[in-house]
Amino acid sequence: MMRAALRQAQGDTKPARGDKLSCAPGQAVVTRDLTLRYDDFTALDDASLVVHFGEALGVVGPNGSGKSTLLKAIAGLILPSAGELCVLGSQPRKLPRGAIAYVPQVEAVDWSFPATVWDVVAMGRFARLPFYRRFATSDREIVHDALEAVNMGSLGKRHIANLSGGQQQRVFVARAIAQEPNLLLLDEPTTGVDAATEDALREVVRNLVAGGLPVIMTTHDLDNVEAWFDRLLVLDRKVIAIGTPHDVIASRAYAGIREHTHTHGHLRHDHEAHKGHAAHPEVKV
Ligand code: ADP
Ligand code: MG
Repeated sequence: MMRAALRQAQGDTKPARGDKLSCAPGQAVVTRDLTLRYDDFTALDDASLVVHFGEALGVVGPNGSGKSTLLKAIAGLILPSAGELCVLGSQPRKLPRGAIAYVPQVEAVDWSFPATVWDVVAMGRFARLPFYRRFATSDREIVHDALEAVNMGSLGKRHIANLSGGQQQRVFVARAIAQEPNLLLLDEPTTGVDAATEDALREVVRNLVAGGLPVIMTTHDLDNVEAWFDRLLVLDRKVIAIGTPHDVIASRAYAGIREHTHTHGHLRHDHEAHKGHAAHPEVKV
């Protein structure tokens, strides 16, 4: 209700035309004609969108549709090839350390890295600590609470290599929460997690959003979008649709994605790349 009123007051779902792109009050992320390329392959073409504080934007689309690429650009891991981007009133790479929490797809993480669950979540605090401040009791409490929030409180001492996929996913979400970011980017956090874990993650994310955090999250799970998101973005190497989940579901765009993902068995890791899609190394964190 408040969120809706806020957005209505802002009256914007597309960035205004103007000279230099900026974030208006209430806007966490603005892109204008954003184009993202890998060499000469265009992963995302001409995307214009706005994400507000206190809203969760879901990003859906078939494999290779540019979902992860969009998150990486917003996180500052890749630079725009064309167009403009405003993140938290600035450029992603100029933001203070830890302002953005980016949780990559689990496949993109090096799980042999020697760290316990506690270590990984504590890294979220280190991202925020000024050099002169030691890791304090308050930081410990935040790490503890973040682990509890994702139902991983009892597994702090476990090595991250010895976790199930769903547990790994939750550890990285806990690290992001412990970071207390100003923007949260989640790349398929529900892939490979059971229904109970998904419910727990959704509750955590919805609470953060209710507290004003902007969240952008990709997903393959097309069934729960209304519970997760305030708005839904459908990508297929460009913006196909953006709107409330209800409106997007009612549109043909969403039906097209459903059809596509169902016929192509999107969750399989052996899924063949689309024709013309190059093999590529994933980003390491
Ligand atoms: P999605 O997350 O929607 O599955 P991605 O954003 O990961 O899609 O990838 C979009 C397209 O860009 C895919 O065709 C993929 O092969 C390609 N791509 C992704 N990362 C790279 C890279 N580092 N180098 C070259 N091509 C890439
Ligand atoms: Mg992806």
